[in-house]
Amino acid sequence: MAKTFKNFIGGKWVAPSTGSYVQNRNPADTNDLIGRFPDSGKKDVAEAVKAAAAGFARWRATPAPARGDVLKRVGDLMVAHKEALAQEMTREMGKVLAETRGDVQEGIDTAYYAASEGRRLFGHTVPSELHRKFAMSYRRPIGVAGLITPFNFPMAIPTWKMFPALVCGNAVIFKPSEDVPATGHRLVELLLEAGLPPEVIQLVHGRGETAGQALVSHAGVSLISFTGSTATGSKIGEMCGRMHKRLSLEMGGKNAQIVMDDADLDLALDGVLWGAFGTTGQRCTATSRLILHQKIHDRFLQRLADAAGKLRLGDGRQPRTEVGPLIHEAAREKVERYVEIGQGEGAELVLGGKRATGGKYADGWFYRPTIFAGVTPKMRIATEEIFGPVLSVLRVRSFDEAVRVNNGVPYGLSSALYTRDVHLAFRAMEELDNGITYVNAPTIGAEAHLPFGGVKQTGNGHREGGWEVYEFYSETKVCYVDYSGVLQRAQIDNYD
Ligand code: NAD
Repeated sequence: MAKTFKNFIGGKWVAPSTGSYVQNRNPADTNDLIGRFPDSGKKDVAEAVKAAAAGFARWRATPAPARGDVLKRVGDLMVAHKEALAQEMTREMGKVLAETRGDVQEGIDTAYYAASEGRRLFGHTVPSELHRKFAMSYRRPIGVAGLITPFNFPMAIPTWKMFPALVCGNAVIFKPSEDVPATGHRLVELLLEAGLPPEVIQLVHGRGETAGQALVSHAGVSLISFTGSTATGSKIGEMCGRMHKRLSLEMGGKNAQIVMDDADLDLALDGVLWGAFGTTGQRCTATSRLILHQKIHDRFLQRLADAAGKLRLGDGRQPRTEVGPLIHEAAREKVERYVEIGQGEGAELVLGGKRATGGKYADGWFYRPTIFAGVTPKMRIATEEIFGPVLSVLRVRSFDEAVRVNNGVPYGLSSALYTRDVHLAFRAMEELDNGITYVNAPTIGAEAHLPFGGVKQTGNGHREGGWEVYEFYSETKVCYVDYSGVLQRAQIDNYD
């Protein structure tokens, strides 16, 4: 009998007020029921906000280095439990073990970075324009932070938000994706085991339109950080705009790898296989477009189709598996719809284009790695996010054309250029409209200590990771101390 899980509100594990639950199943074997998780509603969110407000009052008064020490212990616990966390994550999310280990490692790196940030959280001191006057800025926490996360990085993305939010002194309400609630549950357990005061973290499970929306629209939540699809981000953006909430949006992508005629083709091939089919194409940074210079187009495409056709599809927990299942049936149906759209648009299906069924695939959401050639820049399969193992290949005549194709989509997360020409490498860094550009490396592979995010409809200007995220979770306050003993009027008094 599968376990029934609870929310964590006000320092206690509690059942949802709705009395209803969402089933969490293994996407590689849907007979495997992982657990029943709360399908929470408005009332649960309201309770969580009340508790978080009390937690905030306490946590903001805790010195930042002491807050950082808690995160250091969380990192240590994640190291100790890394393998078990990865195994559990693959069971609920489907990606292969090497990737779920990487997902946990990202959380560990983020924990240690955040722990040390507790001893920095720099403000500025700057000279005043007046005599005997001291001017400085420092950073204050904001309040109750609502964190809403997607399914594809069940540990890394929550930690990208939660750890900086906590080290800055905010209280957190965490609503993990309803598709990967078990990893969210484990993360909260680890925070409590590390000694985080229980009121500082609230875990509210549930669906987006109910629990998620209630969190976004609650007046007691001052800040929302969301990662997910651009469609959901638009709804959240509208609500936060009306309520004047601080908001970070990290949304969809349509990332391209460009391969020039002088590139190391072996390297470029490894890059696109990993970028397009790693995580079954379910990464915001996944390579979903391949832009090939016409001189190498035909031979590269042939090698790619051969290699992608040999990728081993299966349960991510099996050591030989290279591509796992999709997250659920709706994701598989979306991929199928786009394959039909691509065929209807006149693109040439070179590989895949169908479900994997029967035998070991019978009970999972498997779909075969798929490649379309003859794709043109305006086709829907070249501009819309599919979020599955589908790669659209476009042919270009020059670097300038490749840049135009790369930039001709509404998204702007990641891009990659393969070339041996240093001039083109630097031009790519300048001319590709993305938050991240890789040279001679695939579109995926962000590092936790650098800012992460995209331009255009991928984001709203904020970044996760690195030093920049700490700006988002804190408010700058400026203080002046006048020790001249006389009234000095800034901008009015002259120097004498
Ligand atoms: P999703 O938008 O369906 O859901 C994301 C989260 O939002 C979930 O927790 C969901 O419950 C919640 N949600 C849904 N509707 C809501 C609403 N009306 N109000 C409040 N919350 C709501 O996304 P998903 O399918 O889980 O994830 C895939 C998407 O995430 C892709 O578009 C991918 O590109 C994007 N993503 C972006 C980044 C990035 O950093 N840019 C990283 C990972 C994933």
